[in-house]
Amino acid sequence: MTPEEKRRQLEFYQDLGFTFLFRRPAAEASAEPTEAAAPTALAAEPDVPSAAPVAQATVPRPAPPAVEPPTAPPFVEARMPEPVREERPVSPPVPPPVAPQPEPVLVRPPEPMPELYTLPPLEPADDSMLKIREDIGDCRRCRLCEGRTKIVFGSGNEQSPLVFVGEGPGADEDQQGLPFVGRAGQLLTQMIENTASKEGIAITRPDVYICNVVKCRPPENRTPQPDEMEMCGQFLSRQLTVMKPRAICCLGGTAAKALLNLKEGITKARGQWYKWRDVPVMVTYHPSYLLRNQSKELRREAWEDLKKVLHFVYDEAQ
Ligand code: SF4
Repeated sequence: MTPEEKRRQLEFYQDLGFTFLFRRPAAEASAEPTEAAAPTALAAEPDVPSAAPVAQATVPRPAPPAVEPPTAPPFVEARMPEPVREERPVSPPVPPPVAPQPEPVLVRPPEPMPELYTLPPLEPADDSMLKIREDIGDCRRCRLCEGRTKIVFGSGNEQSPLVFVGEGPGADEDQQGLPFVGRAGQLLTQMIENTASKEGIAITRPDVYICNVVKCRPPENRTPQPDEMEMCGQFLSRQLTVMKPRAICCLGGTAAKALLNLKEGITKARGQWYKWRDVPVMVTYHPSYLLRNQSKELRREAWEDLKKVLHFVYDEAQ
């Protein structure tokens, strides 16, 4: 390479920034400070710049002090501010709703039954009307005792051959303690005495005996109930047994059922002869029935029935 070419090459590298190619050691520079020496030094350089001089010319730089990376600030968990609770007045606890209770059903307690006495034997050997009355006492053997005023035992001649048996006391009988003393009783008295008079039988009402199936007045004059008739009928049975009448006259269907256990109605049963034990029984209308039904036919039938009984009882006796 010619010097000229070398120079151009150097200028080329110089332009490129390789200035270190033009530096020389300090001693060499001080010895030859003139510019003329440069071409000489350059002339002594090899044709191609090698990397070695470059490495030698590099001054190791001191490592920069280790700078610790800035530490991140400690993580602070962001928290939502606590909601401000509004203070409310504490109200008393509300009781749970109570289920509506069903309306209490009023259950009417059963009608109290009075204390039942032990009945004496039906037909004591030495029975009498007085003993029967004493046994009845202040009777509370059935519910009819609750509304009664007086026990209506019976009235008339206890040795009479004829006994009339009705249903039960009415209001007047309950007050007086005597059977058939009201309007129905007055009609019965007329029937007995008028018929006897017409038939030539010399009797009046006091000559016969009159009583009822039950001896206490049923409330509102209702029909006695079967258990009431069964209980009180035992006294009637003792009365009839003691009196031993020649005939019995049942007044009305209730008496006929109690005494004879009849199934047919009064209109069929009336005017017929039946038997209670060995005692003949005539069935006819109750005077109250005749008062309610102002029928001449019914009264005629009743008078016919009574004539039969009176003749049966008193014809032989007279
Ligand atoms: S109705 Fe006869 S059984 Fe009943 S309480 Fe009167 S007396 Fe006694």
